[in-house]
Amino acid sequence: MLGDLAPNGGHVMMIVPIDYEAPKGRLILPQVQAIRDCLDNNQYVTIVKEADYLRSLENCKKMPDLVVCDSQVVDFMVANTPAGVSCTTFSILFARLKGDIVKLVEGAAAINGLQNGDKVLIAESCTHHAVEDDIGRVKIPRWLRTKTGKELEINHVAGHDFPADLAEYKLVVQCGGCMNNRREVLSRISRCEQAGVPITNYGVCISELKGVLEKVLEPFPAALQKYREIKNG
Ligand code: SF4
Repeated sequence: MLGDLAPNGGHVMMIVPIDYEAPKGRLILPQVQAIRDCLDNNQYVTIVKEADYLRSLENCKKMPDLVVCDSQVVDFMVANTPAGVSCTTFSILFARLKGDIVKLVEGAAAINGLQNGDKVLIAESCTHHAVEDDIGRVKIPRWLRTKTGKELEINHVAGHDFPADLAEYKLVVQCGGCMNNRREVLSRISRCEQAGVPITNYGVCISELKGVLEKVLEPFPAALQKYREIKNG
């Protein structure tokens, strides 16, 4: 998942917001999996809330080898991470682990071409209870409409639901897919490709909407190159 992004014995810092979306008394699965992967790769992990990030950096004798955050605070992380320190998000780690990060970066380019009346599908792979300011139901739709300035029709599916006919959509935004295996996410990417519909995932989409995608792709050279090719036309 991320063990190859920091050296053996290296330090990975994780920024984990604890707000009303965080499940009471525990961390969410992508965070737990990331911690375990670091331990399996002999790296040590510091976990902080965003309010403690700057103080934690100040306390480091040496800067972390990698910083990973929840997508919801990606703009905060990028603004406060010293130049030269690699950073990314849990969802972007999942874009590579469970999907095809280069294709998901290509898909995000479709955001800027969305027009009034276009349909966007948000696909979550589990049926968790949606909270008041839910990332998939509320925040991503709001950020998409704000960024594009367009009237978009945004539909949601959850669990194993995925439309047989995707042709009506101009963009699919898939969640991190932490409960999917890689084959399932690749199958969704393939079905979108066959239908000619761009697909991205939460982490790539949110980072693009917040204007920090280039920075959080730095640990992934092929995806970064694709991003720059698209940006430079
Ligand atoms: S399967 Fe998707 S929606 Fe459910 S917890 Fe994992 S990333 Fe979030």
